[in-house]
Amino acid sequence: MKRVLVYIDEDAVEDSIDLLEVGRLIYGDKGFCSYALAAGVRYGAAGSLFDYMFQVKNGALPNYDTATIARCIEFLHRIYCFDAIVVPATHCGRMIAPRAAMRLHAGLVADVTGIGTDGDEVLMVRPAFSGRMLATVVCRGSGPVMMSVRPRVFTYEEPVLKSAEIIDVDVQDMKTPGIQLIERREKSEARDIRTSEVLISGGGGVIRDFHLLERLAEALHGMVAASRKVVDMGKAPRAIQVGQSGKIVSPRLYIALGISGSAQHVAGIRDAEYIISVNTNRQAPICSMSDIVVEGDSRAFVEGLLNRIEASNTQNSGDQKR
Ligand SMILES: Cc1cc2nc3c(=O)[nH]c(=O)nc-3n(C[C@H](O)[C@H](O)[C@H](O)COP(=O)(O)OP(=O)(O)OC[C@H]3O[C@@H](n4cnc5c(N)ncnc54)[C@H](O)[C@@H]3O)c2cc1C
Repeated sequence: MKRVLVYIDEDAVEDSIDLLEVGRLIYGDKGFCSYALAAGVRYGAAGSLFDYMFQVKNGALPNYDTATIARCIEFLHRIYCFDAIVVPATHCGRMIAPRAAMRLHAGLVADVTGIGTDGDEVLMVRPAFSGRMLATVVCRGSGPVMMSVRPRVFTYEEPVLKSAEIIDVDVQDMKTPGIQLIERREKSEARDIRTSEVLISGGGGVIRDFHLLERLAEALHGMVAASRKVVDMGKAPRAIQVGQSGKIVSPRLYIALGISGSAQHVAGIRDAEYIISVNTNRQAPICSMSDIVVEGDSRAFVEGLLNRIEASNTQNSGDQKR
């Protein structure tokens, strides 16, 4: 029976469990034996979905100690000879997977978004060139099929309920973690820009007036987003960056203010339904993919639109009183 190891990221337990679907897509009806390795102690619902869960006896496994976790994966593979090792492409997962692959001298396909098979060969689909192309990578040869998988692409369909057996392991050569947790700060309760239907996004052309965007976002019941330039200059938090190295968004309305439309930025807005761009340069790349282009100054646009919205709100409330 084929063996599949899934790494459970304690910051994305449910998404990690969903990676059982990857095993199902590869091995189909022939079935497979599923093993879970969790960092920390959060196994979530894994206990009723996996066949085996590893419990490392001789050391804590903090999620961020990626080198130690990679060592554990290597150690377990040497004993259990997994056919596939699947890691969620989360922040930590993206660091663990290549380290483990290097230790195992195995190939790694990163950020997989699709799985197929061709006879006994496993086909892994991943975005390439900032998402403009999809590459299908074929796994040939011996060694485990190793991949990191983009979270929330797969859902474990028709889960089979089981009762996982706990396997206690003493990992050899476990070093004292070189990383120490000094302080944990809770994430702010700010909403995720991916959930907003309206995004008011600012770039290099609106840096000095970035604070104005919040008012417009509020008036349009949306959220503020930013290009990487604004984030790199410390004017906006990384959590609201849109693009290849930020978030991929799909709002109904995306207003791009002073954003040039680099390939890396555009990679994050391909699924936006309607794009309005405001730019002093009509030739900026974002203009060619916008539904409406406003040629002009971002600040003037924001102030003008705010005035119009406020005037219309005042008129509406006056009409209601009458
Ligand atoms: C590996 C890698 C990953 C990256 N990932 C991302 C990513 O995830 N997201 C991202 O955004 N970038 C990313 N980048 C950076 C990207 O290449 C660009 O440098 C960045 O997107 C430029 O940001 P911008 O368009 O806001 O600024 P600029 O390039 O400075 O463009 C400013 C635009 O504003 C216009 N403008 C100027 N003044 C005004 C005004 N007063 N009113 C209106 N318009 C005005 C200009 O005509 C111009 O088009 C990445 C780069 C690399 C190498």
